[in-house]
Amino acid sequence: MSLTPIYKRFKNQKECILYLEGIFWDGSPICPFCGYRKYNTIQTENRYRCKACKSPFSVTVLTLFHKTKVDLQKWFFAVSNDHLTCRKLAKQIGVTKDTAHFMLVRISIARRNRPDIINKIKKEIYEQYY
Ligand SMILES: [Zn+2]
Repeated sequence: MSLTPIYKRFKNQKECILYLEGIFWDGSPICPFCGYRKYNTIQTENRYRCKACKSPFSVTVLTLFHKTKVDLQKWFFAVSNDHLTCRKLAKQIGVTKDTAHFMLVRISIARRNRPDIINKIKKEIYEQYY
């Protein structure tokens, strides 16, 4: 499995974010801190400010993708290949073994907490290959 089909489906981070907004929020932002659904859009792309608790947030806040510096396409690859060892995953996506380990731990936690999200991403990624 190479990364190419994922980068064809998701050409940049913005496309990944829009996809995540679709599956986490059904397209309509929800504050991850208090659950409120009214917000202001922040000028910076794809960030919002909750009208209740005033916290800024994006769709990745408090999810497995929280504050990551790794491309979301690589995360999607890792989600769909979570059977790989850290070493193999690291090699496939060009990150360090420690980063791959960190990603796999987060994915295994997410698999317990949000199996729906993990399954949707897997399905979307598999469709790019088969
Ligand atoms: Zn809030």
